[in-house]
Amino acid sequence: MNMHPLAKLDHKYVWHPFTQMRDWLKREPIVIAAGKGAVLHDAKGRKYLDANSSIWTNLHGHNHPKINASVNQQLKKIAHSSALGFANEPASHLAERLVQFANPTRSANRKLSRHLGKVFFSDDGSTAMEVALKLAYEFSRRTGRKNPKFLSLSGAYHGDTVGAVSLGHIDLFHKAYGGLLFKSDKVAAPYCYRCPFNRAKPERADAREYRKCNWECIGVLEQKFSARKKKGDSYAAFAFEPLMQGAAGMIPQPAGWLKRATEIARANNALLVADEVMTGFGRTNSQLPSTASKSKIPSFACHEENVQPDFLALAKGLTGGYLPMAATLTTQKIFDAFLGEYEEFKTFFHGHSFTANQLGASAALASLEILQSNASRRARKILELSLRQELKHLWDLPNVGDVRQVGLVVGIELVRDWRTREPFDLHERAGIRVCEKMAESGVLTRPIGNVIVLMPPFCTTPSQTRRMVEAVYHGCKKAFG
Ligand code: PMP
Repeated sequence: MNMHPLAKLDHKYVWHPFTQMRDWLKREPIVIAAGKGAVLHDAKGRKYLDANSSIWTNLHGHNHPKINASVNQQLKKIAHSSALGFANEPASHLAERLVQFANPTRSANRKLSRHLGKVFFSDDGSTAMEVALKLAYEFSRRTGRKNPKFLSLSGAYHGDTVGAVSLGHIDLFHKAYGGLLFKSDKVAAPYCYRCPFNRAKPERADAREYRKCNWECIGVLEQKFSARKKKGDSYAAFAFEPLMQGAAGMIPQPAGWLKRATEIARANNALLVADEVMTGFGRTNSQLPSTASKSKIPSFACHEENVQPDFLALAKGLTGGYLPMAATLTTQKIFDAFLGEYEEFKTFFHGHSFTANQLGASAALASLEILQSNASRRARKILELSLRQELKHLWDLPNVGDVRQVGLVVGIELVRDWRTREPFDLHERAGIRVCEKMAESGVLTRPIGNVIVLMPPFCTTPSQTRRMVEAVYHGCKKAFG
């Protein structure tokens, strides 16, 4: 094989995440060399569309002049100093901006119930969740719970560190590590397409639109909380991804579920942990841009249903997808529980070497600035509409069972036959086969089992969107005949 020297080095030394390395070593990998906007260039000079925003991280496109400039400016000063013992300029500004974004001013009668005023920086989505988990645990202990318990959703994925894995419920990823984990309870997440309570026959539409049910998923959630109450206990915290579960297979919640579910959790004294690692920073926006009031378009999925959590975990898009940086926002009340005299040792003993890194913070500041611009708002609306338009074509395909779009995030569930919803067996690699065909036509994404993900950068043009959806269409035709 006439393999690129960088591909050879990779084969020799690199172990890739979530990858069967035996398969990986059978073929020459695409070596990404550069990127501009929604386009990635490989070391052999080929171009691809980045249809999953480099695993859901990139917001405004690669090589964005404003983010580049901000990072370059910061590089002239300092790349990194420690947050253990010192403050720094971009992280202080970023914390202020994040608090503004996380507490949008609404009309007077629609005020959010809590103020997320404190920011704990870390490195990635897993650590953002780990921080939320540890803070919720310790806060609960300090406020009277002996053995704080957590509830999360079926199919939940909150990262790969041991605490985050403990909140997860994807057997394929998590079961093997059972011996390392603490036990958390799970409750059924709404999954209209495969919901046992949905009495509707399959239609050529997003299952949320034609479902026939009595909101049994909410009933099940209520029962879960009541069952714990009967034991004389209550959950310390309820962790969830708002509006759409990502790694579970891009599973959206029907409108109103989040509001109702979180009201039940609140009524049962559970803290709310919102994992917006995927959904944050405008990904789930579906509202019309308005120049009248910038604050009316929420940046976070929770706020679309007027829900304010006690913990908001952010990563991926925080730096526009430039650098590994994360943040966990929380309330003064949680913060205060860790205040005390030095010798009381109430300190939150947790932190990472690169916490509040200056380069990451400077990228994030520029990214937030872009996110708020009218140009970005317009681009997001155009992208949302063009995705919606193009995706209609996929209903022609018998192997497309469900197409679900939340703002700028799309999951396309492949099935053996749409009439029966019969799934492909995992070892048939249906999703992988389609994505391989898509890559041959210059569109890169990564499946989640039988679900094809489209989550393009916000700068993706309508013609690029069309190419992405066409690649799914032709990829399915080639893969399934
Ligand atoms: N939470 C969610 C919702 C995620 O989608 C992910 C990553 N896919 C994580 C947490 C973990 O983030 P990271 O990979 O940055 O650790």
